[in-house]
Amino acid sequence: MTDSESAQDCYFCRVIRGETDPFMFENASFVGVFDTHPVNPGHALLIPKRHVLSIFDLDDAEQADYFDALRGVRRVIEATDLRGLYQEMLGRDYLRDRPKDQIETVLGLDFLARRPDAYTVGNNDGRAAGRSIDHLHVIVLPRYHGDVENPKGGIRNVIPERASYPRR
Ligand SMILES: [Zn+2]
Repeated sequence: MTDSESAQDCYFCRVIRGETDPFMFENASFVGVFDTHPVNPGHALLIPKRHVLSIFDLDDAEQADYFDALRGVRRVIEATDLRGLYQEMLGRDYLRDRPKDQIETVLGLDFLARRPDAYTVGNNDGRAAGRSIDHLHVIVLPRYHGDVENPKGGIRNVIPERASYPRR
């Protein structure tokens, strides 16, 4: 499959073409959108405009724009009325036939109106790491005190059996 063929039906290429989720951020190399299956209030995705698979495929200009985009996305998350966002998301026409449990769940969280206490930032860089759509997307996930029982180790918990470590 060539790059242009795979880009044709690629979900995130459709996002970049403006066919699905509205942009909450844009610079020369990236767009940001709010995830429509939010894990936490403000969950956003940073997507390169070019159809690349891996963060290691970004060129020099894209690497420079990445940090600008990361800061920009955080700024928008913290300036957005998230209750209003998810109420509006529930009514989006193109999501009409999709399950909306996760949107309804975040609308019920008591920290919905709070400023994030922390962030988990990262991408699943490859199928073995859990990537489900083959176009790089960096997850910008606001974190809140109490969103999980014990946040210690964070991303280490992708392999739960080996996540715990003795250092305090
Ligand atoms: Zn793509």
